[in-house]
Amino acid sequence: MRVYGHYIDGAFTGSDSGSYIESTDPVSGEVWSKIARGTDADVERACASAQAAFENPEWRGLSASARGKLLRQLGDLILENADWLASVEMKDNGKLIAELGNQMRYMSNYYYYYGGLADKIEGSTIPSDKPGVFNFTRYEPLGVVACIMPWNSPLPLTSLKLAPALAAGNTVVLKPSEFTSASLLEFVKLVELAGFPKGVVNVVTGFGHEMGEALVSHPHVERIAFTGGPEAGRIINEQAARSMKRVTMELGGKSPNIIFEDADLDQALKGAVAGIFAASGQTCVAGSRLLVQRSIHDAFLERLVTFLEDIKFGHPSDPSTQIAPISTAPQLKKIEDYVRIATEEGARLVRGGKRASVDGYPNGLFYEPTIFADVDNSMRIAQEEVFGPILSVIPFDTEEDAVRIANDIKFGLAAGIWTENLARGIRMTEKVRAGTIWVNNYRSTSVTSPFGGFKMSGIGREGGIPGMMEYLELKSVWISTNVDIPNPFIRR
Ligand code: NAD
Repeated sequence: MRVYGHYIDGAFTGSDSGSYIESTDPVSGEVWSKIARGTDADVERACASAQAAFENPEWRGLSASARGKLLRQLGDLILENADWLASVEMKDNGKLIAELGNQMRYMSNYYYYYGGLADKIEGSTIPSDKPGVFNFTRYEPLGVVACIMPWNSPLPLTSLKLAPALAAGNTVVLKPSEFTSASLLEFVKLVELAGFPKGVVNVVTGFGHEMGEALVSHPHVERIAFTGGPEAGRIINEQAARSMKRVTMELGGKSPNIIFEDADLDQALKGAVAGIFAASGQTCVAGSRLLVQRSIHDAFLERLVTFLEDIKFGHPSDPSTQIAPISTAPQLKKIEDYVRIATEEGARLVRGGKRASVDGYPNGLFYEPTIFADVDNSMRIAQEEVFGPILSVIPFDTEEDAVRIANDIKFGLAAGIWTENLARGIRMTEKVRAGTIWVNNYRSTSVTSPFGGFKMSGIGREGGIPGMMEYLELKSVWISTNVDIPNPFIRR
């Protein structure tokens, strides 16, 4: 049994409460580690540490180039330790090692990319219309940033915040999900090895509803970078607004994956599966509403069901496993609740709808990929995020019809469009309201590209240059070039 404390001011420390949260392996159902159950006092210590580090010349006095070098050193360490990080993350959330290994190796690029960007953020000289003054702008770090993460992709989602926040010169307090804190507590050892001064990166663990408000409303914290569900996002946004804190919100979705009759249907089939059944649908961008043009609807649905006949459940550490368990027991319960709701609403269960029993893993949280047909877009199963392997299939007739259904939702995180008609593809990218649109592919992402949501799916962007600008404050500086101060009673 591993026992993890918080990581504050460069040292691992127990919780003020003296109590711990148990972390469970979703395959065996066994408790494998314990993490500190944070309190307001722990948050106070972490924020004080981050604030002191922000003011310390050891960090504040570093050039942007030197910060960039530290980030790149961290990127190297991630590459060297990718398998180790993947194995810890798998133990906590049960995600496939085949995907996790790639994700961890790719994650080094977050630090290379933002490390490279650190010394390329430039202000400008303004051709001012006022005589006798020289006006320029500069970007500065905000100070202490609080980052709050979910359980589905703990380290990559942390890194999308941490890398740009550090590149910009901020210090951070990280709060991982209570279900998946271990990998981050292993990861910070690499942060230390890379040479970041103590206090620049701090981690407090615990339940969001217990110590979250202390973090979100802490006077040292200038920005909240949150990834998680819409409900927690709403609470945090309201709390942050009271002290005018900046927020980035990466929330949920109910993304349409739209298949036109003129699509390459072999590819579209794989795109539909990748959209909702990869990672058992536990991804924010899950293509959980499959909009299929009526002329191909029945045949496509049949092919989809057939495609899923031979899928392989198993241990996530087995590279041949395609479906791993659901990450947490509460999530499994939520999935079961929505399957019941969909059935009561009159959706037609075509496949799945129950737990999967997998030989050798009697306590594993496995769930069958589930498909509902005859779904009306107004049903709860079409409007609310399940965050599991539950697909709602919705027929449509025309392009206008597809756009209307796609947009008739409070979310706007992502969308997939499958068509061989280039003009139609472009028209759809213009009309569908979502932060990421994929044409003839699904789930492509890159650290170089901005990612975020329209509507209730979020505020702000992560990734790319926009993702870095979220962590900077813009200052306008006016310097007089005229020795003679003009009339003090009249504005220049
Ligand atoms: P969640 O909202 O329950 O929890 C996310 C984090 O917020 C956890 O660390 C939790 O402890 C913390 N938290 C909860 N209440 C809080 C409060 N009142 N104050 C402060 N912190 C609080 O989400 P989850 O179940 O861990 O993750 C699943 C959700 O995350 C899904 O809705 C999914 O769509 C979303 N998600 C979004 C993205 C994206 O980039 N848009 C990516 C991954 C996951």
